[in-house]
Amino acid sequence: MTDASTVPFIIAVDGPAGSGKSSVSKAVARRRGYGYLDTGAAYRALAWHVLERGADTADEAAVLAAAADFALRQGLDADDRRVFVGDADVTDAIREPRVSGAVSGVARVLPVRAQVNDMFRRIVAESGYPAVVVEGRDITTVVAPDAPVRILLTAAPEVRAARRAGELAGEDAAAVAAALHSRDAKDSAVVDFLTAAPGVEVVDSTALDFDQTIDAVLAVIDRRASDVQRGADHG
Ligand code: C5P
Repeated sequence: MTDASTVPFIIAVDGPAGSGKSSVSKAVARRRGYGYLDTGAAYRALAWHVLERGADTADEAAVLAAAADFALRQGLDADDRRVFVGDADVTDAIREPRVSGAVSGVARVLPVRAQVNDMFRRIVAESGYPAVVVEGRDITTVVAPDAPVRILLTAAPEVRAARRAGELAGEDAAAVAAALHSRDAKDSAVVDFLTAAPGVEVVDSTALDFDQTIDAVLAVIDRRASDVQRGADHG
């Protein structure tokens, strides 16, 4: 588990907000003892850092300045989801609506994407895990386009909005839905996570409950892993 010389088997999972990709990816990692990397948390932490500096994420120069001074600490343990910026524990703060509303400003800055993508690849390569579930928006296409398992997790927009409203108890459901759709619209102008790239398997969770979605993802992983094994046996 901690042998840093093994190159981890990457399970790339993309999808829009409320598709269930974080909770499903986390559950899959837990069940199998894989590492789990939540790439959205890094974008959120950087958005938090920009706001903390009193700046606006719409200001590209301010985002770049914050990115140049961004000390992120984030582990791969599915049971330890803490995220730090410097010494500040931002685990809860990065889920606040003010950060969700600001994060797309950070995500559209291309040099920032290049910087965090390098960081993600390094974290995974050095993780020591036999396999890592890497979850985000552009993992199947940009961060790990050669991953043996690539999945796009989707769900109908109204189902995603209802799930997210359920997670944010106490928030107005219509406001949650509006914020989610606005964030998707901004994010999908930067990376396309609503259609599957060639070779990416779609798992549509609209009619599936949580456990069924986990099983569907595990089935894709197992099928792809045996394809890879067969290829190795015959190669
Ligand atoms: O997955 P989550 O909703 O936490 O992601 C937060 C934000 O981070 C997204 O709305 C998007 O702006 C950005 N993001 C991204 N690319 C990724 C992961 C997240 O642009 N791979």
